[in-house]
Amino acid sequence: MPQSASTTTPTTSPARLMDGTALARRIVETTAERAAAFTARTGTSPCLATVLVGEDPASVTYVRMKQNRCRKAGIVSRHVALPAETTTAELVHTLTALSTDPAVHGILLQHPMGEHIDERAAFEAIAPEKDVDGVTLSSYAAMSFGLPGFQSCTPGGIMRLLDAYDVDPAGSRAVVVGRSAILGKPVGMLLLARDATVTYCHSRTKDLGAVVREADIVVAAVGRPELIRGEDIKPGAVVIDAGYNPGNVGDVHFASAVERAGLITPVPGGVGPMTIATLMEQTVTGAERQLGL
Ligand code: NAP
Repeated sequence: MPQSASTTTPTTSPARLMDGTALARRIVETTAERAAAFTARTGTSPCLATVLVGEDPASVTYVRMKQNRCRKAGIVSRHVALPAETTTAELVHTLTALSTDPAVHGILLQHPMGEHIDERAAFEAIAPEKDVDGVTLSSYAAMSFGLPGFQSCTPGGIMRLLDAYDVDPAGSRAVVVGRSAILGKPVGMLLLARDATVTYCHSRTKDLGAVVREADIVVAAVGRPELIRGEDIKPGAVVIDAGYNPGNVGDVHFASAVERAGLITPVPGGVGPMTIATLMEQTVTGAERQLGL
């Protein structure tokens, strides 16, 4: 029976860890079984197209990780590498072609891209039914209205973690620190759709600590190492640290937060692995939907 985060018992013992690595492994295994069934039934494998503009080392690494995970999940990956000087029009042309290619079931446009590219125009060239990374306006609207569609992968992964640890957001006070289009905003919408009372914090929020202290569920999505301190965690709260900063450091000060939280995600090994697992799962879902399975 899921527990409501708002009724989580205050605790003075260290928090339980939310093991994203193990959960992600189980999701990828199940996804691989579904991909194999899809291939047996249709004679073609689910296919994720990855599109990379330029050669930013971090982006190259992220795309390679996603391709490797595709292989494990029985998903074909088709990589499109474009030069750094690619224009918005050229990128839109590439994405439109992938959107209409029946052999491609999901599209991942690695971002951030060069500053000369109109990122929104590029994302919107991805057909909503292939938007398995959940970056289009259509996907955002689906998340906001609770309609079928794809979730942004990190927010979707966070919701899966909450479910796996029987945290029911209904009626709880959720505080999301960060309001980016790919992380903070959509995770707040998904929590709202599950009947949490959601507060967003950002760089202009006054007395961040006081707001965080009210939270039954804290989602840290800031990109500021160890910004959220243990003294601001309500005893027994669920702490989700989506931050990933140099040196494998999250946005939460883990050593102090673990002493007060009820459940907490480690960094690494919490939210991070869930992002790619969600991408894999949504790619197979996209393939199944496109073939009417
Ligand atoms: P982002 O686009 O830079 O957004 C950061 C947000 O934090 C903004 O809304 C900003 O407010 C807010 N903020 C900045 N400083 C703040 C402060 N001192 N107090 C309160 N709010 C503050 O970052 P992002 O792309 O959402 O990423 C956030 C973190 O998640 C990063 O560490 C990133 O590496 C990580 N991440 C992890 C994954 C994963 O797979 N695990 C995926 C994506 C991102 P304003 O809006 O006012 O500027």
